[in-house]
Amino acid sequence: MQEASIPRDDAQRLDSLRRMELLSTPAEAYLDRIIAFASEYFRTPISLFSIVDKDRQWFKSRLGLDVPETPRNISFCGHAILQDDVFVVENANEDPRFSDNPLVVGGPRIGFYAGAPVKNAEGFNIGTLCVIDKSARKFSQRDRARLQDFSWWLRLALEKRGLSVVQLELMAELDAAKRESMLDPMTQTWNRRGFAELAKREIAKARRSKTSIALVMIDIDHFKKINDTYGHPEGDKAIIMLARLLRGKTRTTDVLARLGGEEFAVLMPEISRPDALRLADSLRLVVEQDALVADGQRFTISAGLAWFEQGKGDLSEEGMVALADKALYAAKQSGRNRVVASP
Ligand code: GH3
Ligand code: MG
Ligand code: MG
Repeated sequence: MQEASIPRDDAQRLDSLRRMELLSTPAEAYLDRIIAFASEYFRTPISLFSIVDKDRQWFKSRLGLDVPETPRNISFCGHAILQDDVFVVENANEDPRFSDNPLVVGGPRIGFYAGAPVKNAEGFNIGTLCVIDKSARKFSQRDRARLQDFSWWLRLALEKRGLSVVQLELMAELDAAKRESMLDPMTQTWNRRGFAELAKREIAKARRSKTSIALVMIDIDHFKKINDTYGHPEGDKAIIMLARLLRGKTRTTDVLARLGGEEFAVLMPEISRPDALRLADSLRLVVEQDALVADGQRFTISAGLAWFEQGKGDLSEEGMVALADKALYAAKQSGRNRVVASP
């Protein structure tokens, strides 16, 4: 196996990458959309926005792959960032550089790889947008040009990253390892710890700026039945799909977190009560319409909404969670697949 060589300016590249606050942060919807479109366009089961860190490649956005990272020395992307052209391996099993690579011999059994480097504003190749297939494939000059286009869009999107000030502050304050402890690796959303930290900050900000804030608690309906009928791995897939659907519908300023099991929270800063209700119902609706498990089986969610007009009521994280939980319970009691707002 041939390991990717390390670029001469790798230390500067890594410094520049760190300043972007991209590593060990939650997935972002616009990036998911670009890689999903790439997968659809090239008809590949796997597409990734992979960031090449010092010793690992870490997937900021991933479709069709379960692991959050792999070592840099066996990565294909480590090769791809060495050049500005698209890096293509049409048949990994017959390529002496890759045929004994663990990612080829074992999971995910890469047969074909094409990756376009993604440049940041400072001109460094921070990673790649890549598409992967299990079997060997041809990749034409035209395909190469299209993959470069996808990578260009991804770069533009990164420059317009519309995260909330509070989330950006948190990312800048904590190092990657700390951030990682606040992420749920399965769904690439904030976990309970991350949620608690961000909720504390968002609520403090809402109080300071006298703005309203909403919290939606979400739980899959009859999830045990999905696990019992299709097995735990399909249950996991449903949870991952739910995260993706919720991410696609929430605003970039909202905080999406998996609190545990099949329970999610969405914290919505600076939002009116009617808008919060509308947004919560659009989450319910997108799941009703688009969520699928094996066998074309659908599932639904119930949601409880708590809304705080600044200065009124108990504006604490615990208070919000308790109220939203109570509303969620009412949604379950009154038939599921619905949103109930606390009074
Ligand atoms: P309800 O409509 O009342 O919510 O019914 P439910 O069956 O969804 O009930 P509940 O929310 O209490 O069930 C949660 C189930 O989720 C129980 C547990 O087996 C399952 N679960 C928890 N975490 C995971 C996970 O990470 N993966 C999978 N596949 N299942 C999980
Ligand atoms: Mg539950
Ligand atoms: Mg449930």
